[in-house]
Amino acid sequence: MSKSVSQIISDLESGATTSVALVHDCAARIDRLNPDLNAVLSVQRDDALKAAEASDARRKSGKPLSAADGVPILLKDNICATGGPTTCASRVLENYRPPYDATATAKLRAAGVVVLGKTNMDEFAMGSTTEWSAFGMSKNPWKTDHVPGGSSGGSAVAVASGMAPWALGSDTGGSIRQPAGFCGVVGMKPTYGRVSRYGLVAFASSLDQIGPFASNVEDAALLMNLIAGHDGRDSTSADVPPEDCVAELRNGRLAGLRIGRPRQFFDVEGIDDDVRSVTDGTLDILRREGAEIVDVNMPFAEEYSVAAYYVIAAAEASSNLARYDGAHYGYRAKDSANIVEMFSRSRAEGFGAEVKRRVMLGTFALSAETFDAYYVRAQKARTLIKRDYDNALKECDAILAPVAPTPAFPAGEKTGDPVRMYLADVFTLSLNLAGYCGLSLPAGFSKSGLPIGVQLLAGAFGEKGLLQTAWQLESKLGIAGSRTPAVFAR
Ligand code: GLN
Repeated sequence: MSKSVSQIISDLESGATTSVALVHDCAARIDRLNPDLNAVLSVQRDDALKAAEASDARRKSGKPLSAADGVPILLKDNICATGGPTTCASRVLENYRPPYDATATAKLRAAGVVVLGKTNMDEFAMGSTTEWSAFGMSKNPWKTDHVPGGSSGGSAVAVASGMAPWALGSDTGGSIRQPAGFCGVVGMKPTYGRVSRYGLVAFASSLDQIGPFASNVEDAALLMNLIAGHDGRDSTSADVPPEDCVAELRNGRLAGLRIGRPRQFFDVEGIDDDVRSVTDGTLDILRREGAEIVDVNMPFAEEYSVAAYYVIAAAEASSNLARYDGAHYGYRAKDSANIVEMFSRSRAEGFGAEVKRRVMLGTFALSAETFDAYYVRAQKARTLIKRDYDNALKECDAILAPVAPTPAFPAGEKTGDPVRMYLADVFTLSLNLAGYCGLSLPAGFSKSGLPIGVQLLAGAFGEKGLLQTAWQLESKLGIAGSRTPAVFAR
């Protein structure tokens, strides 16, 4: 098991390690494992070493920028960072080098965190497996013929295989929580507006959020502290006071806590037996620790979220991706006879199949004849789904749910059937439609040795309490660090 960020920080403080040594370690592991796992798309080795040297010098002079000064991180390749490409795993942005940092990136650098490189993903974050990356899929480190989940699959694989102790991802409909669950790490989707979206390449702007990947809850809380906060450059950024997610992390209590069990997320067909037994086992632990398990009713979240999400997300994507026309942004097809041909060939050659499917679906949903029947109805369903959360959260402090109906599945299993792929997102989409916060936490293993996560979900700006509960639960589950994927031995 590689070290946790909190251990790394104490090693940096005591002088047992240096930021330069950490960068060398991570880069060596990437060199060794990435040819197989394909989790990382680019490494900014020289810049990272320079930043690490500067960090070590600050520590030496007793002036670190933050406790995490010198800790390396990988960023999902849709989060802008100067010094290297930001491709969104798309041919369209293959040569894009952002001239500015995303706010999340800038905040990390201001804390002295060292950006090592960028991670693989589904093209423009559209997907659930990373199989839609234009640069090849990532592999699940626990079973390399299985998917790691997506769309932030590369970030999950990188943390699970020790390529970096931290990574950032983005979650529009589950893209942090689901790969975290599939790879046995912690992943958090913050409340919409909690983390600035400035410099996050837009997929579905009313749903997208940046969030942390880490190997345990405390490390995720440390990273939340660094990236959260109001930002005038994102008009949807929430102007709420920042919360310290770390200081009182251990002060939560399971005894007396009310945990909601949405019956529609449990009593449905098609849930894998191992997922069911790990989720039920987690409820048993909570009960044993004195939490009260409350049966809650979330009918709309279960029934409408797949349909509503895939209309709304596609609609927003079709609008956001209009800018990649070969003139404003991105890949330009050569030798076109006129500008219309140039637009259409640039997009036809640049985008992959799934992105095209979303653009077409979204354009259809937004067209005059179908707008009311699809887009407006989806927005109404979204309101009902949010109401489900509001009602449920009146009766409980947090909701427990499976992350996905199954553990990681074999590569290629769902790429031929988009609807089956979309249906596998059934447990993660509703949280984004509601705009609330949640995390996924390793809770057990399948009989075949694949990690299985559970989600804890809470209301707007409930991150601090959610992390406290997750920390307590993690310590009772005893899963974190109990097993490591075989690649660790390599
Ligand atoms: N799997 C979902 C989709 O394909 C969610 C993706 C995400 O959260 N970025 O849209």
